[in-house]
Amino acid sequence: MSGLKDLEIGVMFWATGNPVETLREVKSLGVSVGQLGVRGDLRLEGAAEIWREALTQENFTLVTVFCAYNGESYADGPTVEATVGFIPRSTRAEREQRTKDVSDFAAEIGVNSIACHVGFVPKDPADPDYVAVRDVVRRICDHAAQHGQTFAMETGQERAEVLLGFLKDVDRKNLGINFDPANLIMYGTGDPILAVEVLSEHLLSVHCKDGVWPPKLPAGALGSETPLGEGAVGMDKFIAKLKQIGYKGTLNIEHEIDDLEQKSKDMRKGVELLTRLRA
Ligand code: MG
Repeated sequence: MSGLKDLEIGVMFWATGNPVETLREVKSLGVSVGQLGVRGDLRLEGAAEIWREALTQENFTLVTVFCAYNGESYADGPTVEATVGFIPRSTRAEREQRTKDVSDFAAEIGVNSIACHVGFVPKDPADPDYVAVRDVVRRICDHAAQHGQTFAMETGQERAEVLLGFLKDVDRKNLGINFDPANLIMYGTGDPILAVEVLSEHLLSVHCKDGVWPPKLPAGALGSETPLGEGAVGMDKFIAKLKQIGYKGTLNIEHEIDDLEQKSKDMRKGVELLTRLRA
Protein backbone atom coordinates (compact mmCIF):
# COMPACT_ATOMS: atom_id res chain seq x y z
CA MET A 1 0.00 0.00 0.00
CA SER A 2 3.03 2.27 -0.11
CA GLY A 3 2.48 5.41 -2.15
CA LEU A 4 -1.18 5.60 -1.19
CA LYS A 5 -2.58 8.53 0.74
CA ASP A 6 -4.46 7.89 3.99
CA LEU A 7 -8.12 7.20 3.21
CA GLU A 8 -7.48 7.30 -0.52
CA ILE A 9 -10.68 6.91 -2.51
CA GLY A 10 -10.96 3.78 -4.59
CA VAL A 11 -13.55 1.64 -6.34
CA MET A 12 -14.65 -1.99 -6.05
CA PHE A 13 -14.95 -3.34 -9.61
CA TRP A 14 -15.05 -6.68 -11.44
CA ALA A 15 -12.46 -8.29 -13.67
CA THR A 16 -13.18 -8.70 -17.36
CA GLY A 17 -11.16 -10.22 -20.18
CA ASN A 18 -10.00 -6.71 -21.15
CA PRO A 19 -8.11 -5.27 -18.16
CA VAL A 20 -6.90 -2.09 -19.88
CA GLU A 21 -10.42 -1.10 -20.93
CA THR A 22 -11.78 -1.96 -17.46
CA LEU A 23 -9.09 0.05 -15.66
CA ARG A 24 -9.68 3.04 -17.95
CA GLU A 25 -13.40 2.96 -17.14
CA VAL A 26 -12.62 2.92 -13.42
CA LYS A 27 -10.07 5.72 -13.80
CA SER A 28 -12.66 7.84 -15.59
CA LEU A 29 -14.34 8.14 -12.16
CA GLY A 30 -11.26 9.98 -10.94
CA VAL A 31 -9.56 7.20 -8.95
CA SER A 32 -6.42 5.14 -9.51
CA VAL A 33 -6.79 2.57 -6.74
CA GLY A 34 -9.32 -0.14 -6.02
CA GLN A 35 -10.38 -3.68 -5.28
CA LEU A 36 -10.70 -6.22 -8.07
CA GLY A 37 -13.55 -8.73 -7.93
CA VAL A 38 -12.99 -12.09 -9.58
CA ARG A 39 -16.16 -13.99 -10.47
CA GLY A 40 -16.29 -17.77 -10.42
CA ASP A 41 -16.32 -18.06 -14.20
CA LEU A 42 -13.25 -15.90 -14.86
CA ARG A 43 -10.46 -18.01 -16.36
CA LEU A 44 -7.36 -17.59 -14.23
CA GLU A 45 -5.00 -19.27 -16.69
CA GLY A 46 -2.95 -16.50 -18.28
CA ALA A 47 -4.90 -13.79 -16.41
CA ALA A 48 -2.06 -12.69 -14.15
CA GLU A 49 0.19 -11.68 -17.02
CA ILE A 50 -2.37 -9.44 -18.75
CA TRP A 51 -3.51 -7.90 -15.46
CA ARG A 52 0.05 -7.19 -14.34
CA GLU A 53 0.82 -5.46 -17.64
CA ALA A 54 -2.43 -3.47 -17.56
CA LEU A 55 -1.90 -2.30 -13.96
CA THR A 56 1.60 -1.09 -14.81
CA GLN A 57 0.51 0.57 -18.03
CA GLU A 58 -2.43 2.34 -16.39
CA ASN A 59 -0.49 3.12 -13.19
CA PHE A 60 -3.29 1.60 -11.13
CA THR A 61 -2.96 0.12 -7.61
CA LEU A 62 -5.01 -2.84 -6.41
CA VAL A 63 -5.32 -3.27 -2.65
CA THR A 64 -7.54 -6.37 -2.60
CA VAL A 65 -8.60 -9.21 -4.86
CA PHE A 66 -12.16 -10.27 -4.02
CA CYS A 67 -13.34 -13.77 -4.75
CA ALA A 68 -16.93 -14.58 -5.78
CA TYR A 69 -18.20 -18.05 -6.68
CA ASN A 70 -20.37 -19.68 -9.32
CA GLY A 71 -23.90 -20.29 -8.08
CA GLU A 72 -24.12 -17.45 -5.55
CA SER A 73 -27.30 -15.38 -5.36
CA TYR A 74 -28.13 -12.37 -3.20
CA ALA A 75 -31.88 -12.40 -3.99
CA ASP A 76 -33.07 -12.56 -0.36
CA GLY A 77 -31.94 -13.75 3.07
CA PRO A 78 -32.73 -17.47 2.70
CA THR A 79 -31.16 -17.55 -0.79
CA VAL A 80 -27.98 -15.91 0.49
CA GLU A 81 -27.86 -18.43 3.30
CA ALA A 82 -28.27 -21.31 0.86
CA THR A 83 -25.86 -20.17 -1.86
CA VAL A 84 -23.16 -17.77 -0.61
CA GLY A 85 -19.62 -18.54 0.49
CA PHE A 86 -18.55 -21.73 2.24
CA ILE A 87 -21.92 -22.62 3.78
CA PRO A 88 -23.31 -24.74 0.90
CA ARG A 89 -21.77 -28.16 1.50
CA SER A 90 -21.89 -29.36 -2.11
CA THR A 91 -19.55 -26.59 -3.33
CA ARG A 92 -17.46 -26.09 -0.18
CA ALA A 93 -14.36 -27.96 -1.35
CA GLU A 94 -14.32 -26.46 -4.86
CA ARG A 95 -14.79 -22.94 -3.50
CA GLU A 96 -11.95 -23.44 -1.04
CA GLN A 97 -9.70 -24.48 -3.92
CA ARG A 98 -10.90 -21.58 -6.06
CA THR A 99 -10.06 -19.14 -3.26
CA LYS A 100 -6.55 -20.57 -3.02
CA ASP A 101 -6.21 -20.22 -6.81
CA VAL A 102 -7.37 -16.59 -6.57
CA SER A 103 -4.82 -16.05 -3.78
CA ASP A 104 -2.12 -17.34 -6.16
CA PHE A 105 -3.41 -15.02 -8.91
CA ALA A 106 -3.38 -12.05 -6.51
CA ALA A 107 0.19 -12.87 -5.49
CA GLU A 108 1.27 -12.99 -9.14
CA ILE A 109 -0.08 -9.48 -9.70
CA GLY A 110 1.45 -8.15 -6.47
CA VAL A 111 -1.68 -7.82 -4.32
CA ASN A 112 -1.24 -8.55 -0.62
CA SER A 113 -4.86 -9.02 0.42
CA ILE A 114 -7.66 -11.33 -0.68
CA ALA A 115 -11.29 -11.26 0.45
CA CYS A 116 -14.68 -12.93 0.08
CA HIS A 117 -18.10 -13.36 1.65
CA VAL A 118 -17.69 -16.57 3.67
CA GLY A 119 -21.50 -16.83 3.94
CA PHE A 120 -23.85 -16.87 6.92
CA VAL A 121 -21.75 -18.23 9.79
CA PRO A 122 -24.04 -20.14 12.20
CA LYS A 123 -24.19 -18.60 15.70
CA ASP A 124 -23.57 -21.93 17.48
CA PRO A 125 -19.85 -22.85 17.51
CA ALA A 126 -20.85 -26.51 17.86
CA ASP A 127 -22.84 -26.42 14.60
CA PRO A 128 -21.10 -28.72 12.06
CA ASP A 129 -21.28 -25.98 9.41
CA TYR A 130 -19.66 -23.49 11.79
CA VAL A 131 -16.81 -25.94 12.43
CA ALA A 132 -16.39 -26.74 8.73
CA VAL A 133 -16.39 -23.08 7.66
CA ARG A 134 -13.94 -22.17 10.44
CA ASP A 135 -11.57 -24.89 9.21
CA VAL A 136 -11.89 -23.72 5.57
CA VAL A 137 -11.07 -20.16 6.67
CA ARG A 138 -8.03 -21.41 8.62
CA ARG A 139 -6.70 -23.27 5.58
CA ILE A 140 -7.26 -20.25 3.31
CA CYS A 141 -5.48 -18.00 5.82
CA ASP A 142 -2.54 -20.38 5.93
CA HIS A 143 -2.40 -20.52 2.13
CA ALA A 144 -2.58 -16.71 1.85
CA ALA A 145 0.10 -16.33 4.54
CA GLN A 146 2.57 -18.15 2.30
CA HIS A 147 2.17 -15.23 -0.13
CA GLY A 148 2.36 -12.68 2.69
CA GLN A 149 -1.32 -11.88 2.16
CA THR A 150 -4.13 -11.04 4.55
CA PHE A 151 -7.55 -12.62 4.15
CA ALA A 152 -10.55 -10.32 4.70
CA MET A 153 -14.05 -11.57 5.40
CA GLU A 154 -16.82 -9.30 4.11
CA THR A 155 -19.12 -8.12 6.91
CA GLY A 156 -22.85 -7.88 7.12
CA GLN A 157 -24.44 -11.28 7.20
CA GLU A 158 -23.98 -11.69 10.93
CA ARG A 159 -23.86 -9.33 13.88
CA ALA A 160 -20.53 -7.73 14.72
CA GLU A 161 -20.27 -9.66 18.01
CA VAL A 162 -20.79 -13.00 16.22
CA LEU A 163 -18.14 -12.07 13.66
CA LEU A 164 -15.74 -11.05 16.42
CA GLY A 165 -16.20 -14.41 18.14
CA PHE A 166 -15.58 -16.20 14.85
CA LEU A 167 -12.39 -14.20 14.15
CA LYS A 168 -11.05 -15.11 17.57
CA ASP A 169 -11.95 -18.76 17.10
CA VAL A 170 -10.23 -19.00 13.69
CA ASP A 171 -7.17 -17.53 15.40
CA ARG A 172 -5.02 -16.55 12.44
CA LYS A 173 -2.94 -13.38 12.45
CA ASN A 174 -3.59 -12.58 8.79
CA LEU A 175 -7.40 -12.81 9.13
CA GLY A 176 -9.45 -9.62 9.30
CA ILE A 177 -12.48 -8.02 7.76
CA ASN A 178 -13.56 -5.96 4.82
CA PHE A 179 -16.10 -3.73 6.52
CA ASP A 180 -19.23 -2.97 4.49
CA PRO A 181 -21.54 -0.60 6.42
CA ALA A 182 -24.48 -0.99 4.03
CA ASN A 183 -24.57 -4.77 4.42
CA LEU A 184 -25.30 -4.49 8.14
CA ILE A 185 -28.30 -2.32 7.29
CA MET A 186 -29.52 -4.28 4.26
CA TYR A 187 -29.31 -7.59 6.18
CA GLY A 188 -30.78 -5.95 9.27
CA THR A 189 -27.85 -7.10 11.42
CA GLY A 190 -27.09 -3.90 13.30
CA ASP A 191 -25.90 -0.31 13.46
CA PRO A 192 -22.80 -0.07 11.26
CA ILE A 193 -21.19 2.74 13.27
CA LEU A 194 -21.36 0.69 16.48
CA ALA A 195 -20.09 -2.33 14.53
CA VAL A 196 -16.98 -0.39 13.42
CA GLU A 197 -16.28 0.20 17.10
CA VAL A 198 -16.66 -3.50 17.96
CA LEU A 199 -14.51 -4.67 15.05
CA SER A 200 -12.05 -1.76 14.96
CA GLU A 201 -8.90 -3.84 15.53
CA HIS A 202 -9.73 -6.13 12.63
CA LEU A 203 -10.48 -3.71 9.78
CA LEU A 204 -8.24 -4.51 6.82
CA SER A 205 -10.28 -2.66 4.20
CA VAL A 206 -13.68 -1.04 3.78
CA HIS A 207 -16.46 -0.71 1.25
CA CYS A 208 -18.21 2.62 1.04
CA LYS A 209 -21.73 1.55 0.17
CA ASP A 210 -25.10 2.85 1.30
CA GLY A 211 -28.50 1.25 1.67
CA VAL A 212 -31.82 1.08 3.49
CA TRP A 213 -33.17 -1.36 6.11
CA PRO A 214 -35.16 -4.43 4.98
CA PRO A 215 -38.92 -3.98 4.44
CA LYS A 216 -41.19 -5.71 7.00
CA LEU A 217 -42.63 -7.94 4.26
CA PRO A 218 -42.03 -10.32 2.63
CA ALA A 219 -40.18 -12.14 5.39
CA GLY A 220 -36.51 -12.64 4.54
CA ALA A 221 -36.43 -9.68 2.14
CA LEU A 222 -33.25 -7.64 2.19
CA GLY A 223 -32.94 -3.88 2.21
CA SER A 224 -31.80 -2.27 -1.01
CA GLU A 225 -28.78 -0.28 -2.08
CA THR A 226 -28.88 3.46 -2.58
CA PRO A 227 -26.36 5.91 -4.02
CA LEU A 228 -23.74 6.92 -1.45
CA GLY A 229 -25.10 9.45 1.04
CA GLU A 230 -28.77 8.67 0.29
CA GLY A 231 -29.21 5.62 2.53
CA ALA A 232 -29.28 4.89 6.26
CA VAL A 233 -25.53 4.50 6.87
CA GLY A 234 -24.74 8.18 7.45
CA MET A 235 -21.53 8.46 5.42
CA ASP A 236 -20.38 11.46 7.46
CA LYS A 237 -20.64 9.43 10.68
CA PHE A 238 -19.00 6.41 9.05
CA ILE A 239 -15.96 8.33 7.78
CA ALA A 240 -15.67 10.20 11.10
CA LYS A 241 -15.68 6.87 12.95
CA LEU A 242 -13.01 5.42 10.63
CA LYS A 243 -10.81 8.45 11.34
CA GLN A 244 -11.46 8.08 15.07
CA ILE A 245 -10.29 4.45 15.19
CA GLY A 246 -7.20 5.36 13.16
CA TYR A 247 -8.13 3.52 9.95
CA LYS A 248 -5.84 4.70 7.15
CA GLY A 249 -6.65 2.29 4.33
CA THR A 250 -8.57 2.96 1.15
CA LEU A 251 -12.26 3.93 0.89
CA ASN A 252 -13.60 1.65 -1.81
CA ILE A 253 -16.90 2.73 -3.29
CA GLU A 254 -19.09 -0.25 -4.07
CA HIS A 255 -22.34 0.12 -6.01
CA GLU A 256 -24.02 -2.84 -7.66
CA ILE A 257 -26.93 -1.80 -9.88
CA ASP A 258 -27.86 -3.02 -13.35
CA ASP A 259 -28.17 0.41 -15.01
CA LEU A 260 -24.53 1.09 -15.89
CA GLU A 261 -25.04 4.70 -16.90
CA GLN A 262 -26.77 5.46 -13.60
CA LYS A 263 -24.09 3.50 -11.76
CA SER A 264 -21.35 5.73 -13.21
CA LYS A 265 -23.28 8.89 -12.30
CA ASP A 266 -23.86 7.64 -8.75
CA MET A 267 -20.24 6.64 -8.32
CA ARG A 268 -18.98 10.00 -9.56
CA LYS A 269 -21.16 11.69 -6.93
CA GLY A 270 -19.84 9.18 -4.40
CA VAL A 271 -16.25 10.22 -5.19
CA GLU A 272 -17.27 13.88 -4.68
CA LEU A 273 -18.96 13.09 -1.36
CA LEU A 274 -16.00 11.10 -0.01
CA THR A 275 -13.55 13.77 -1.19
CA ARG A 276 -15.41 16.25 1.02
CA LEU A 277 -15.73 13.87 3.99
CA ARG A 278 -12.12 12.60 4.05
CA ALA A 279 -10.67 16.13 3.96
MG1 MG B 1 -19.39 -5.04 0.02
